[in-house]
Amino acid sequence: MSTSDDCLFCKIARGDIKAAITYRDDRTIAFKDIGPKAPLHELVIPARHIASLAEATPADAELFGHLMVVAAQRAKESGLAENGFRVVMNAGDDAGQSVHHVHLHVLGGRAMVWPPG
Ligand code: AMP
Ligand code: ZN
Repeated sequence: MSTSDDCLFCKIARGDIKAAITYRDDRTIAFKDIGPKAPLHELVIPARHIASLAEATPADAELFGHLMVVAAQRAKESGLAENGFRVVMNAGDDAGQSVHHVHLHVLGGRAMVWPPG
């Protein structure tokens, strides 16, 4: 498994830094965002280090699809299937990506506005 020594989310994936983990399988980890922006705010990450969605290749298609399926599963398990939820992946500086390990935000439990800021 490829991880990066100085990457915060690789440290969470390895268990070197604690997080409130809600789901884990061989490729994916979900955990609660430390600064929640909604009643449900979890991050779904690949266990393998990928810095940004901009680095995704066709070989990663199944992994990225799996992140979405895990996000939907977490939203459903959190009771948000009926009222709805939002998934967001920030990529790069203009989008405000602050942690350079791919992560899918899963947000729900309140009404949201569009477009995002
Ligand atoms: P982004 O701005 O899209 O890169 O999102 C990074 C997210 O990681 C932010 O929502 C942070 O609140 C969250 N975050 C940063 N450090 C931690 C941590 N140690 N555990 C959980 N979430 C974190
Ligand atoms: Zn990483």
